Amino acid sequence: MSNASADSCFICKTCGVQFAETAEPPPACQICDDERQYVPPSGQQWTTLDKLRRSHRNSFQQQEPNLIGIGTMPEFAIGQRALLLRTPHGNFLWDCISLIDDATVAIVRGLGGLAGIAISHPHYYASMLEWSRAFDDAPIYLHAADLEWVMRSGSAIEFWEDEQKELAPGVTLIRCGGHFPGATVLHWADGADGQGVLLSGDVIAVMPDGAASFMFSYPNAIPLPAASVQAIGDVVAPFRFDRVYGAFWERVIKTNGGAVVAQSVARYLRAIAAESR
Ligand SMILES: [Zn+2]
Ligand SMILES: [Zn+2]
Repeated sequence: MSNASADSCFICKTCGVQFAETAEPPPACQICDDERQYVPPSGQQWTTLDKLRRSHRNSFQQQEPNLIGIGTMPEFAIGQRALLLRTPHGNFLWDCISLIDDATVAIVRGLGGLAGIAISHPHYYASMLEWSRAFDDAPIYLHAADLEWVMRSGSAIEFWEDEQKELAPGVTLIRCGGHFPGATVLHWADGADGQGVLLSGDVIAVMPDGAASFMFSYPNAIPLPAASVQAIGDVVAPFRFDRVYGAFWERVIKTNGGAVVAQSVARYLRAIAAESR
């Protein structure tokens, strides 16, 4: 697999986001210059998709029926894994990763290709246009509130507004805000044997103890105000879900997802309350 953009669109090594075509590497990564990310002490570094294809590969693991995780090995940039959601109305890629190669295209094509790509927030925009192009220019659904963070634009990107967007029956994007103004999670009504699933990126981040957290900046540990955390809890509360898949392989709330998220909101609000400690 080779294409011009794989060589001339630079990818930030820290956040994994691919930039628009340039002859020289961009002077800076706006996403990593932001407080929600960081530039490493060694300075800004870039790679390309061509280089990444020589040093890395993707691995696949079924998370549950009709949901397959796709992650890059060895780990690259933030290290999130994407999720391929299979539905009777087509497959959707939830969140995105920087590496797309021949094997990945062949495997995903074998599973029926992509009807669309939906991404929780700018940290996971990755090589979204390369993924779209590989699957017949599949539409990429991004919340319009995060428009300024798109580093490589293309006609496949469809900015949506409002608070919810149904991609297919039982597959709904929910704008949560918080981590980013347009930060989004995906509700899959048929997941978890019909008890419902939330694909949450790090908008509702699944933590090591199996609860959730909600940060403005994860690497720099900058919390969100109480009103934002409460708002996230409130917008997902009407949805039924038993399981929550966070952004990383091991970060899954296996059961009681709705209650765990509600308890996690309460725990967070207690922790940041003025009188709590
Ligand atoms: Zn970056
Ligand atoms: Zn993030």
